[in-house]
Amino acid sequence: QPVLAVVGRPNVGKSTLVNRILGRREAVVQDVPGVTRDRVAYDAYWSGRRFTLVDTGGWEPDATGLQAAVATQAELAMQTADAVLLVVDATIGATATDEAVARVLRRSKKPVLLAANKVDDDRLLADTAALWTLGLGEPRPVSALHGRSSGDLLDAIIAALPSAPREAGEATAGPRRVALVGKPNVGKSSLLNRLAGEPRSVVDAVAGTTVDPVDSLVELDGQTWRFVDTAGLRKRVNSANGAEYYASLRTKTAIDSAEVAIVLLDAAEPLSEQDLRVLTMVVEAGRACVLAFNKWDLVDEDRRHAMVRELDRGLVRVPWAEKVNISALTGRSVRKLAPSLRTALKSWDQRVPTGQLNGWLSELIAATPPPVRGGKQPKVLFATQAGIRPPTLVLFTTGFLEAGYRRFIERKFRERFGFEGSPVRVNVRVRE
Ligand code: GDP
Repeated sequence: QPVLAVVGRPNVGKSTLVNRILGRREAVVQDVPGVTRDRVAYDAYWSGRRFTLVDTGGWEPDATGLQAAVATQAELAMQTADAVLLVVDATIGATATDEAVARVLRRSKKPVLLAANKVDDDRLLADTAALWTLGLGEPRPVSALHGRSSGDLLDAIIAALPSAPREAGEATAGPRRVALVGKPNVGKSSLLNRLAGEPRSVVDAVAGTTVDPVDSLVELDGQTWRFVDTAGLRKRVNSANGAEYYASLRTKTAIDSAEVAIVLLDAAEPLSEQDLRVLTMVVEAGRACVLAFNKWDLVDEDRRHAMVRELDRGLVRVPWAEKVNISALTGRSVRKLAPSLRTALKSWDQRVPTGQLNGWLSELIAATPPPVRGGKQPKVLFATQAGIRPPTLVLFTTGFLEAGYRRFIERKFRERFGFEGSPVRVNVRVRE
């Protein structure tokens, strides 16, 4: 989602305006202890559009003086955000500091909006017009305190922000889509037959209905699911020549058109290369994942012990996957699949509000800062969960974060917010 940075001198009413824009939805978060006050990000919505609002905080004059501090802040805002909102106090007019900021912002290739705050009544409109001298285009009068014209300002903000691309796995109507995948002979057709064979099931969509004829509708646990691309599964295709290539292609297509994958593994045998290839496909496609250990009826005590160690090593890429032990043959625990699918999809759909995310992140980073690279300490400025399906975090930083540290963030993020059964992506946007 696009990022709007709000900049302005102390006392121009910036916080009031930020709260006004947020509709006070998240304003309380500001008081969470440990949150770095100089840069806080929030989720904002207007006219059905969602964006991240970054409050660059009050400018405290440092050793180099207020103007330099302000210019640095504006620079930072420009580099991290998609658009910048400069707030000035119309009752005071443009100060030298405002002019210094405007100079920095004028160089920006990104859209800059100018809000003339404290315009509580029409008599102040003349003061607003005086702000044209800042060279940032039309000054937009607003009264953060009374809400006057804040709707117009928000309209202008939305118009200035780049439109967000449609979310990859955006909600589609109808049953949730499941891919049933795994190497040949692991028991996919057996499982599908067992699931579809339950008394209360709806099976096999027929051509002419709205459902793709290659899919199967299956009712599990009171919910209808769409098992995608199952045409070849129900009536077993002969695994003759070229079958392996074909099978892997089919697996990829099924995963791509699904939201969640049930990866079937043979519990009686060690994890194979082929199993890991399928898992990698699921992770790379960013799909939610349930690992089903099939043929559990063949697993004895010895095998169970061997498995523990094997899986620790084999499943390092997906420690977060939902796991169930089943037997397609006997029907054992097959009923547990539906709750696991639901958990995985819930995580896949989950979004952590930006305020909450940054409250948590600033504490984490204060305790464990990113490792120094090339003599420089990269700083994490703020983060937003830019997307769901799969959940995707974007960290805005002043330097590159190594893979190990990104994994650390992911691990802690999961410890704090859950996300069982879903991959989580951590992207880094370095300001240049
Ligand atoms: P697919 O190639 O993945 O579709 O595998 P199939 O469903 O055709 O199963 C391959 C073989 O494994 C068949 O002989 C099945 O009877 C057997 N099989 C499937 N599930 C189980 C299970 O849970 N336990 C046992 N013991 N055998 C199973």
